[in-house]
Amino acid sequence: MPHSYLVIGGNGFLGRHIQEQIRLRKDGATISVFDMSKPADPEADVTYHTGDLRQFDDVYNALEGITAVIHCASPPHVNSSNPPRDLYFSINVDGTKNIIRACQERGVEILVVTSSGSVISTGEPMVNVDESTPYPPEAIDVYTESKIECEKVVLAANGEKNIRTCTIRPSAIFGPGDRQLLPGMIEVCEKGQHRFQIGDNSSLMDFTYVGNVAYAHVLAAEKLVDPASPAAGQAFNLTNGTPVPF
Ligand code: NAD
Repeated sequence: MPHSYLVIGGNGFLGRHIQEQIRLRKDGATISVFDMSKPADPEADVTYHTGDLRQFDDVYNALEGITAVIHCASPPHVNSSNPPRDLYFSINVDGTKNIIRACQERGVEILVVTSSGSVISTGEPMVNVDESTPYPPEAIDVYTESKIECEKVVLAANGEKNIRTCTIRPSAIFGPGDRQLLPGMIEVCEKGQHRFQIGDNSSLMDFTYVGNVAYAHVLAAEKLVDPASPAAGQAFNLTNGTPVPF
């Protein structure tokens, strides 16, 4: 098992659950968090580093003594006619390259990165798809375009300078601490937009419980301890398995 984790983006919704899943393993692994925001209520057993992953030195310094990195930092997905392209690419692509280089220079061999189920979305109905589904010729939006590039960079780094990588692709995440999904639905209701229906109400959507998403990240890191792990260099789709009307 990895004995010292750095969770990048660890003060966010998913990051806090990843901390909890590491704790629940009860295998003595230490937890460090790297995030640009400070924790609202710091945990006694966590070492906190405040920094921006776009700054190589910030990341490099936080990696001292670390054996596994779980990177779940990203700007939030916003629905906008003018999405912040530079922000998405500077953090999700250039920032992720910083993390890879810092891991390689520090000799950290294990890197698990949160991607998104949207990376294989074509915008058309997708039923029973698996990881053999290719990226679409055009991403559904700019956020997803940056997540595809991020994933390509992470998977291409697998095996370079002893680093083993994989990506986890959750679809919409729900659960305690959610700051996007439920607040977005409440906003729709508050604006009265729920009174309009597009389609016949038979659309299905896969949501994923945050505890399951966090657990998947920790399992992936544990699998990557083995230098010959078949998980290395792979992307994993992740859902709860039962689509619900949306
Ligand atoms: P979140 O906004 O709650 O957490 C992200 C954390 O990353 C925040 O604490 C933020 O401060 C940190 N961060 C952002 N930019 C940073 C930077 N430059 N340097 C350091 N820290 C930075 O988001 P979340 O919902 O927990 O999402 C976690 C991951 O899951 C992201 O990669 C996101 O793309 C992915 N994802 C989320 C969903 C969802 O429904 N929430 C669905 C699919 C994929």
